[in-house]
Amino acid sequence: TAVPTVTLNDGTEIPQFGFGVWQVPAEDAERVVSKALEVGYRHIDTAAVYGNEEGVGRAIAASGIPRDELYVTTKLWVSDFGRAEARAAMETSLEKLGLDRVDLYLTHWPAPATDQYLRAWEGLEDIAEAGLSTSIGVSNHLEEHLDRIVALGGRTPAVNQIEIHPYLQQREVVEANQKHGIATEAWSPLAQGQVFDESAVRAAAEAHGVTPAQAVIRWHLQQDRILFPKSVTDERIAANFDVFGFELTDAELEAIDGLEKGGRLGPNPAEFN
Ligand code: NAD
Repeated sequence: TAVPTVTLNDGTEIPQFGFGVWQVPAEDAERVVSKALEVGYRHIDTAAVYGNEEGVGRAIAASGIPRDELYVTTKLWVSDFGRAEARAAMETSLEKLGLDRVDLYLTHWPAPATDQYLRAWEGLEDIAEAGLSTSIGVSNHLEEHLDRIVALGGRTPAVNQIEIHPYLQQREVVEANQKHGIATEAWSPLAQGQVFDESAVRAAAEAHGVTPAQAVIRWHLQQDRILFPKSVTDERIAANFDVFGFELTDAELEAIDGLEKGGRLGPNPAEFN
């Protein structure tokens, strides 16, 4: 299966589809990431705060897959915001992952009350300059946060990873991303399983003989979003990857679009610090 790639604003390519490991317990991370790599996933999304970078790293090492064929993202937690702190946190993450560079490093939340996200961004620019992360980006940033980063006049974030699923489509933030040439990554793309009983999702799934999860994944892929659903179940890890043999119709995409209800699962980035 050839997973499509998206070209980022720094000229690099990211696999559009990957595997996320939030809430995967440290002791399960090696097993589930090994399974994902065996099935064909080549893009892994983790974070320092997930506490499972070591397990991710063990799975990567055990896989024997050439480093250039893998795409690894991790994230800087808000307690490490600051220029020097970011560099130290990156080095800790690399050590845990057993890698000498990641492909993408993100600031995890803007945490606007502390107003340190601009300093954290400068830290990420240093990290990119030093070759410790090929690309750098942000997560959970709203338009005002992106505008301030771009106004620094340095690098523009390559991606903004935000909560997007049928109940929360974040059209304003996606437009702000597009304004700056920033690619959109969708977190909790399956709404953590909450949208599977919706008739728009079920109808699309039934029409193509696929599962509701596979239909929702296609809904994202066909709207050019980068995504990395999570599962700890072997069958689901495999089934979620089996999404490149069918296409939803425009009418099916629009019906799923119609599920928008401003339904956040996570915190509001303006208030989370
Ligand atoms: P998700 O939307 O990927 O949902 C995962 C859950 O959906 C699973 O735990 C399971 O309950 C269910 N599920 C998955 N596949 C299924 C299937 N085939 N059939 C039935 N149920 C299925 O949720 P997520 O893990 O929150 O998000 C994905 C990734 O996004 C995370 O692992 C993480 O990498 C990233 N993320 C980032 C942030 C951030 O702040 N940047 C926040 C949350 C998540």
